[in-house]
Amino acid sequence: MTGPNGEQDDGTDAIDGTDGTDGTGGIDGTGTGGDAIETDGGSPGRQGRVTSEELTAESHFVLPGFFSALAEERLVGGRCHGCNTVLVPPRPACYACGSREIAVEELSRNGEIVTYTEVRRPAPAFAADAPLTIAIVELDSGARLTGRVAADYDDVEIGTPVELTVRELTEEEREFALDHETDWPLHVFEPA
Ligand SMILES: [Zn+2]
Repeated sequence: MTGPNGEQDDGTDAIDGTDGTDGTGGIDGTGTGGDAIETDGGSPGRQGRVTSEELTAESHFVLPGFFSALAEERLVGGRCHGCNTVLVPPRPACYACGSREIAVEELSRNGEIVTYTEVRRPAPAFAADAPLTIAIVELDSGARLTGRVAADYDDVEIGTPVELTVRELTEEEREFALDHETDWPLHVFEPA
């Protein structure tokens, strides 16, 4: 288990990490520039230092690999051997301690709402669904993930148990998505 400092870092960094799942800015940081060598790199259960050869588009260490697993309702994260921080999505290096000893593993999709809010004027793609309930969820693994909750604001509270589910984008959402995002699922927390 991580010490008090580790847990504090864990929380804030995990929130940053979730920005990547929305398709903003995560791609460059993961280093997709490696040669496309056939490899099983980044599959659940791998151990040891991540090599550049492993960072193919299929790797769970890059967002396309992360999202293709998520599309099958498999949430993968990276667990740092150095400090035990769980990285969602998996990263080749730990953002808490810098270690490159990261093991990819499948995580529980269950967790609890840590904090939440209501978005009355969402981005145009989601306008038809307004108002939206958005929450930061602490998963059983300790990683935190931000996302929509399939419940009205008044029907959830801090501590409400939820489960991460995914669905395909609607036609309207697809129109607004960036090209590389159109095949990625949208994650939604359902009250569990
Ligand atoms: Zn670490």
